Amino acid sequence: MSLSWDDENRPIDLHVHTTASDGDTSPAACVDEAKRLGLAAIGITDHDTVAGNAEAEARGREVGVEVVPGVEVSVQHERLTVHILGYFPEPGVAELEAVLAALREHREERNPRILRRLAEVGCPVTPDELAAEAAGGVAGRPHIAAVMIRKGYVGNLQEAFDRYLAKGAAAYVERGKPAPDLGIRALLAARAVPVLAHPAALGARSESDAEALVAALKEMGLRGIEAYYHAYSPGQVAACLGLARRHGLLVTGGTDYHGSRKPEVQMGRGSGGTHVPYRVLAELKKARERL
Ligand code: AMP
Ligand code: FE
Ligand code: FE
Ligand code: ZN
Repeated sequence: MSLSWDDENRPIDLHVHTTASDGDTSPAACVDEAKRLGLAAIGITDHDTVAGNAEAEARGREVGVEVVPGVEVSVQHERLTVHILGYFPEPGVAELEAVLAALREHREERNPRILRRLAEVGCPVTPDELAAEAAGGVAGRPHIAAVMIRKGYVGNLQEAFDRYLAKGAAAYVERGKPAPDLGIRALLAARAVPVLAHPAALGARSESDAEALVAALKEMGLRGIEAYYHAYSPGQVAACLGLARRHGLLVTGGTDYHGSRKPEVQMGRGSGGTHVPYRVLAELKKARERL
């Protein structure tokens, strides 16, 4: 099937978080929001879980929004935390399930330690408060931040991260993450297309660092780079497109929508009102066929 020019340019968003992880909008409500905004497709990319995919896909069929099932896997490459998006994972593949389950277990170890640190610095948050905020989803730092805002310790999410939760801040605790080759191999085992998320957020110290990282990930089976990201300037997008071109990777894009937890982010909308066109998804689907 070939797409007409108009079809190819329909707006999409391939990076959306739901209540299955640290978004505050249910999978079905995310699809409804995409419909309201006139998006042709959205990708569900919750942290360390595929639990929201089925609900979103069912809602997508009801309302006529194409839903791309996905996941966002955290991995550790030397001193860098790297997020790998995986698109179209087959459900129930043991190798991927095991990696995701291990990531969630590492969170179970980490969250109580963060809460203990917070209590020490005068910002007590109880495990029950965290559990209520996460409401059955994969609990992470944004949930802790939300409780902290509600209890008046901080004014907003950014302040919670800057003062307490970000790497190097008062209550930061590392969590265990798989090596990148393990994460990528697990995604490929489930025939999910592995894509490097928000490359500019990596904290690579230099361009040559970024180049080397992408080369290493490509060697492990990486297929794409998220070149379009809600906050990226034209210069950052161009740099990511250059990385993709030099390494023979496809490009994807999305907003990293988290609902009202990140109120500055609107689904489907990049900085300057840009949007990701459907042809990006068409290429992603071709890459999936080749796996
Ligand atoms: P966790 O999964 O618990 O490690 O938390 C990571 C999530 O917190 C990311 O996916 C973002 O949603 C958010 N996050 C991480 N670092 C920051 C930061 N410096 N400022 C705001 N949000 C952040
Ligand atoms: Fe998140
Ligand atoms: Fe991420
Ligand atoms: Zn994300």
